[in-house]
Amino acid sequence: MANLKLRNLNKTFGSVEVIPNVNLDIEDGEFVVFVGPSGCGKSTLLRMIAGLETATTGDILIDEKSVVRTPAADRGVSMVFQSYALYPHMTVRQNLSFGLENIGMAKAEIEKRIQAASVLLQIDELLNRRPTQLSGGQRQRVAIGRSIVREPKIFLFDEPLSNLDAELRVVMRFEINALHERLGNTMIYVTHDQIEAMTMADKIVVLRKGNIEQVGAPLELYNHPDNKFVAGFIGSPR
Ligand code: ADP
Ligand code: MG
Repeated sequence: MANLKLRNLNKTFGSVEVIPNVNLDIEDGEFVVFVGPSGCGKSTLLRMIAGLETATTGDILIDEKSVVRTPAADRGVSMVFQSYALYPHMTVRQNLSFGLENIGMAKAEIEKRIQAASVLLQIDELLNRRPTQLSGGQRQRVAIGRSIVREPKIFLFDEPLSNLDAELRVVMRFEINALHERLGNTMIYVTHDQIEAMTMADKIVVLRKGNIEQVGAPLELYNHPDNKFVAGFIGSPR
């Protein structure tokens, strides 16, 4: 569990300022959704928090400690990607254990974590299969499982349901919210889908061109949008 603070965070690629200056406070245990149109910088922001992209300037604090120069593996943050990013030649069990073996974790501890996560995600019967032998929903569960076994303080999700069909997306939304209830960790969930944001978030952060337009609870934004962009994007009545 952890709180997260972004301070004057900037990301510039070449001469293009993708994230001009972001300041944000996320409380311990919150489920926060970053929402905004495609290309507004959601993934870049998430990748900076994860340590997969270096911030150009500014600071990232986890539990009041600056991690902006901490390597990704040591931040206590784990990310679930849209594309699952599972290793096709490995079984589900190997996909789950790989990252833990790499850091030299004891076999018994790895097995314990895999058991717990796979039961929680209902993939315990699939541990010997390969990704090609799984449905889209099952693959996404394995991708989430790979984050869970690392026991991160903060979970990041980058449009994790975009590749699933509409029906399964609805099921998985509930499952991810249930997972949050169960684990209690801070989670940041990125989507361009307003309905996902409205139904899943404790707090929504609306992004536009790398800037935060408004932060608030779903109904707050819906009932009191600060501007036309937020109103249009959230679907508030005029
Ligand atoms: P989103 O996830 O909201 O769709 P991204 O964070 O992926 O947006 O991208 C935001 C902007 O930054 C886009 O204009 C994109 O083209 C640009 N961008 C992302 N990564 C790079 C990169 N490595 N080099 C240059 N531009 C990039
Ligand atoms: Mg993206």
